[in-house]
Amino acid sequence: MTRADGDLLGSLAAVVGPQNVGADAASLRVHENDGSTLHPARPHAVVWPSTAEEVAAVVRTCAARGTPFVARGAGTGLSGGAMALEGGVVIALNRMNAILGIDAPNLRARVQPGVTNLSVSRAVAPLGLYYAPDPSSQAVCTVGGNVAHNSGGPHTLKHGVTVNHVLGLQLVLPDGDLVELGGAERPGYDLLALLCGSEGTLGIVTAITVRLLRRPAGVRTLLAAFETPQQASLAVAEVIASGTVPAALEMMDSVVVEALTAAFGFTFPEGAGALLLLEADGPLPGLDEEADALAATCRRCGALSVRLATDETERAEVWKARKRAFGALGRIARNYYTQDGVIPRTRLPEMLQRVADIGASAGLRIANVFHAGDGNLHPCILFDDRDADQRRAVLAAGAEILRACVDLGGSLSGEHGVGVEKREAMARLFTPSDLAAMAALRAAFDPAGLCNPGKILPTGGGCVEVPPRHRQAAL
Ligand SMILES: Cc1cc2nc3c(=O)[nH]c(=O)nc-3n(C[C@H](O)[C@H](O)[C@H](O)COP(=O)(O)OP(=O)(O)OC[C@H]3O[C@@H](n4cnc5c(N)ncnc54)[C@H](O)[C@@H]3O)c2cc1C
Repeated sequence: MTRADGDLLGSLAAVVGPQNVGADAASLRVHENDGSTLHPARPHAVVWPSTAEEVAAVVRTCAARGTPFVARGAGTGLSGGAMALEGGVVIALNRMNAILGIDAPNLRARVQPGVTNLSVSRAVAPLGLYYAPDPSSQAVCTVGGNVAHNSGGPHTLKHGVTVNHVLGLQLVLPDGDLVELGGAERPGYDLLALLCGSEGTLGIVTAITVRLLRRPAGVRTLLAAFETPQQASLAVAEVIASGTVPAALEMMDSVVVEALTAAFGFTFPEGAGALLLLEADGPLPGLDEEADALAATCRRCGALSVRLATDETERAEVWKARKRAFGALGRIARNYYTQDGVIPRTRLPEMLQRVADIGASAGLRIANVFHAGDGNLHPCILFDDRDADQRRAVLAAGAEILRACVDLGGSLSGEHGVGVEKREAMARLFTPSDLAAMAALRAAFDPAGLCNPGKILPTGGGCVEVPPRHRQAAL
């Protein structure tokens, strides 16, 4: 690998100070992966700016030299989005982690991109407010990363994903210009919506105005245990078909139950082959009726048991199990590869069977923990990355799962983004003309192709010819 030359490092140090530039082996090593370990790529340098102006100056430095750059939040992404595929500079936003202002009467807050998701809700909790998008990684992932991935979470079924809760953005464009998008009623193109989910390819977000919601008057949380995932997925389809939109509707299968028990000592009903976590929230009148209706649907679909959390402690315990599910898998496997396909909810039983069949024929164990109400699957394929054959088998099984999602009328990604992981699969979902339109739009923002190159758009030349400027870049 080419090392960053002294000239580049000197220019970066002149902007952010030498103590905020990393080019030593340890700094580069910890930035060569995100939450997925299947697409490692080592940058030439890492910088930790403190202000939007510093970010802009770093970007201008890179642009002037033709050096690629990529924004990074907490690095919890699961699609290789924050990897420096062509080397260059990782711009780590972790030090820009201030809450700049809270405007409670107008239900909004302004935050820096490195603020963690959960700390927004924590900061406004004394005001009876919260920030709705709640990825399971919310204790560590950043709001900037959430914007880039248009992240969801258990409660986005009812309340919407990140794009529905972002009111304004400050953005450093790929040429180093600083612009404000949204923020007030502004006519013209809805660039705010475009930026949400653009995976750091159109610029670097340096401040975000988020929408705050009032805490609901009441919450009812239920845990239903089923003998089989098929019964649980039938219940999901029935709940959605009934017209009720629960605040959350999450599923965990028996492999996850085994992992949670092994890792944290959680106990679940005997014989549980699948668990559904259902939540209703809103004004008190009608809330118990909604919870009763959810419980009745589960029982009709064969639930072994349905337990209503009786107090906040019990509720927190149920959610702790769900939010620790991914981490718990580490107790039963050395590595896991999380997929992020989407399918119409009515196809859930069929799709879960397909996932099981794909795992069985590849000789791989697959755990399922996912946002069932959204039809957003997360099959986690367990493996040992020291075994090259297993790595190959895991990637093939992941691709097959995604193919099955698309074949069933679904999509490649619900919330983890395309990144490098799924870019070649984009041609299964989009026509060459669709992809060419996306490439043209990206080139309008980033004609030099330096801003997070190699992500989202296919490079294989199969169905669409992506302009070469999006494939090449030199340090
Ligand atoms: C255990 C676990 C559970 C998870 N659960 C969920 C879940 O429930 N829902 C969900 O949606 N995701 C989930 N994720 C995925 C991940 O946490 C989200 O994608 C998250 O939004 C990534 O944030 P980050 O700060 O870690 O971003 P990173 O991984 O650092 O970066 C992600 C992408 O955002 C870009 N980016 C980062 N900051 C900026 C910025 N300031 N400006 C422009 N681009 C930027 C990067 O270039 C990259 O393309 C989970 C991940 C893990 C490991």
